[in-house]
Amino acid sequence: MARTYYVSLITSVTMSKEHNNKMNKIVSLAKRRGFIFQSSEIYGGLGSVYDYGPLGILLKNNIKQAWWKSMVQDNLDIVGLDAGILMHQKVWEASGHVASFSDPLVDCKRCKLRHRADKLLIAAGVEADDKMTIDEINDLLDKHNTVCPDCGGELTSARSFNLMLKTHLGPVESDESTVYLRPETAQGIYVNFKNVQQSMRKKLPFGIAQVGKAFRNEITTKQFIFRTREFTQMEMQYFVHPKYADKYYDIWKQKRMKWFLDYGISESNVRYHKHDKLAHYAKSAFDIEYNFPGGWDELEGLHNRGDFDLSQHEKYSGEDLQYTDSGTKEKYTPYIIETSVGLDRAVFAFLSDAYSTIEGGRGEGAKSDEEVVLRLHKTIAPIKVAILPLSKKPELQNLAHEIADILKRRWMIQYDETGSIGKRYRRQDEIGTPYCVTVDFDSLEDKAVTIRDRDTMKQERIAIDELVHYLQDNIC
Ligand code: ATP
Repeated sequence: MARTYYVSLITSVTMSKEHNNKMNKIVSLAKRRGFIFQSSEIYGGLGSVYDYGPLGILLKNNIKQAWWKSMVQDNLDIVGLDAGILMHQKVWEASGHVASFSDPLVDCKRCKLRHRADKLLIAAGVEADDKMTIDEINDLLDKHNTVCPDCGGELTSARSFNLMLKTHLGPVESDESTVYLRPETAQGIYVNFKNVQQSMRKKLPFGIAQVGKAFRNEITTKQFIFRTREFTQMEMQYFVHPKYADKYYDIWKQKRMKWFLDYGISESNVRYHKHDKLAHYAKSAFDIEYNFPGGWDELEGLHNRGDFDLSQHEKYSGEDLQYTDSGTKEKYTPYIIETSVGLDRAVFAFLSDAYSTIEGGRGEGAKSDEEVVLRLHKTIAPIKVAILPLSKKPELQNLAHEIADILKRRWMIQYDETGSIGKRYRRQDEIGTPYCVTVDFDSLEDKAVTIRDRDTMKQERIAIDELVHYLQDNIC
């Protein structure tokens, strides 16, 4: 929920040429190869909403599954939840979102574009942050003669703009029927704390994990899927005795960083960022930042939230949300350690980290000035194997289809028989397919195929009977 430092408002001004170039290349690849499209594109697009194409949804699901496995499957003290997007309006009063989940907004009087005032100040080199009052922001805007970054026009004074998307439930539009599209998934976990703890007979410490959509009426966007108005969060809230909160906070800080590294993010592209000014709910806060094409920015938030959430919900609902230790009989309000990562930001980080180019190509027969290789971790790559018959002769097609039928039971595969073999390798490299299996005329005799590794380009001859074992050993 913290509205943190974000330097990329005036993308074209602040982003280095190199970063801008990379951003353009990733956006172009994402569209060209069916990963990510602008929402409602044929109508001119809907601002800051994106659609995941056939490969994008595979990549997104693989990342989600890798996260879920690392939380719910690998930890016996963590269980899952899927709460509704719509919740009782009091939830958002208790959480503080109705009163304070807002950004300072200014309008340009000339071009009518809207901007986040704190980001304008930061981009102009002024020391500003998301904890300042509207009056403080307006003083700074005046003092620094801040103008519209797009057209240089005069700006209105800043006013507070709540980011929650509002709608009404039922046939009557009234204050009572107001509901919000949740701006974070965490509250669904807090209000279900007792349900989950009691139904699963969990002793503290234990965690609840959830993946789901969240919505924010963001003012500042312009960064592809970095900041969107509809996005998916992967959150895990760990409930602990207050005296162990620091210990588990450290553990989860390390574990979450390791997760990114385990799935192939380069160590040089991630770092911790400590928050000195804390949001109202936090006792301590770190971000895991990633070196996005737009610069270093938050990928995941890690918070020690103290007892703020359960105490607030206890106060607003009148329900007892304390926990009684069955051994010591101590009754207390648990502290919460939160790990919260945006799935879309994770997709962006993994795509960006995996994106590599080879000037002049790798010399496998297809001519190109620059070859793209998406070096995605094999577990998250959308397509695991491509089956490539060397020619369109029916006997090769038949054998290739037989192999495809065997492999598709276990993995997402593609079958491609068009173009030169070099071109087909390029197409698979560009979407990050770790293995290509070529079926040639010798295959009809020796019942073997050639398997090519995306990264090393090493080619091995393997008996068709051994193929499943080989891939099982090499793809997790
Ligand atoms: P930011 O400062 O970038 O707006 P935040 O501090 O408001 O982010 P949190 O409320 O801590 O973010 O949300 C946790 C995570 O959810 C973030 O680390 C980010 O990965 C993701 N997230 C938040 N807002 C968005 C958004 N508008 N689009 C995509 N992902 C988002």
